[in-house]
Amino acid sequence: MKTDKSLKRSIECTIKDFGFPFLLMTYTMTLWFFPQSATFLLLAFAVAGMALEKWIPYHAEWQGIKTDSKIDAIFSGLTILVSVILKSGTTVVLSRAGMESHVWPSWPLPISVLVALVISGLGPYLLHRAAHEWSAIMWQVHAVHHAPDRVYSLNAMRTHPLNAAWNVLAGLGPLLLLGADSQTILIAGSLNNFFSIFNHMNIDFRNPMLSIFFNTSELHRWHHSTKQELGDKNYSSGAIALWDHVFGTWRLPAERFKSNGAGLFAANDFPGYSLSKQLLRPICRCA
Ligand SMILES: [Zn+2]
Ligand SMILES: [Zn+2]
Repeated sequence: MKTDKSLKRSIECTIKDFGFPFLLMTYTMTLWFFPQSATFLLLAFAVAGMALEKWIPYHAEWQGIKTDSKIDAIFSGLTILVSVILKSGTTVVLSRAGMESHVWPSWPLPISVLVALVISGLGPYLLHRAAHEWSAIMWQVHAVHHAPDRVYSLNAMRTHPLNAAWNVLAGLGPLLLLGADSQTILIAGSLNNFFSIFNHMNIDFRNPMLSIFFNTSELHRWHHSTKQELGDKNYSSGAIALWDHVFGTWRLPAERFKSNGAGLFAANDFPGYSLSKQLLRPICRCA
């Protein structure tokens, strides 16, 4: 019985230390060889992540379906819809308007993807920071993402449709304008999506070294802090944390994030928790 318990504990410790690098490597390799399966792959890994949330949660208090889950799911559905429409729409519009250039060099694919991850991270970083620090209207839009008092899988796409739109346009637009090839765009976009889902997962992964380079859950969880001095950090939302290092906003505190530490730090600016208010208040005063 004692052996069973210690075996279980050592399996859990191994997953905490090596689970995320293993998932990332498996995801990247599969994506590399089967890029056409990107959507299915992301879905499969998201389901695996949700299973790990149940098995090895960062906070047990953040588990399960609660009153906010329905609104989280509705916003996630809207985010997927807006993203799909804008991704295909932007590609078609830019190509018909003849705005795509051909300045993207024909690098080997790994280098091309790395450069695409860097470029596609800058616009969303700056807009994300603007929403926190520079624009009250953008904050009302972005606050929808920060409203939940926990960080878990359904938070990943809990964004206002306007927030989803500016993320897609600022991330994908520059790659299209520079003429990046479709395989680079697909792989870089899928890696960005993988990280933005996994960095919200309520899983007790421990990757202090990976967090220096990648936008892990350990890093992004602090961005959801109710303390503004902690929340106004770690603005990267894609795969890599480079722009946080460049602009001095990267921060990984040594202590554990508290279970009651997530949510809004400027609740007075928030329009309220009903779906219609969250959707309409940033646009008009009718809700
Ligand atoms: Zn934010
Ligand atoms: Zn987030």
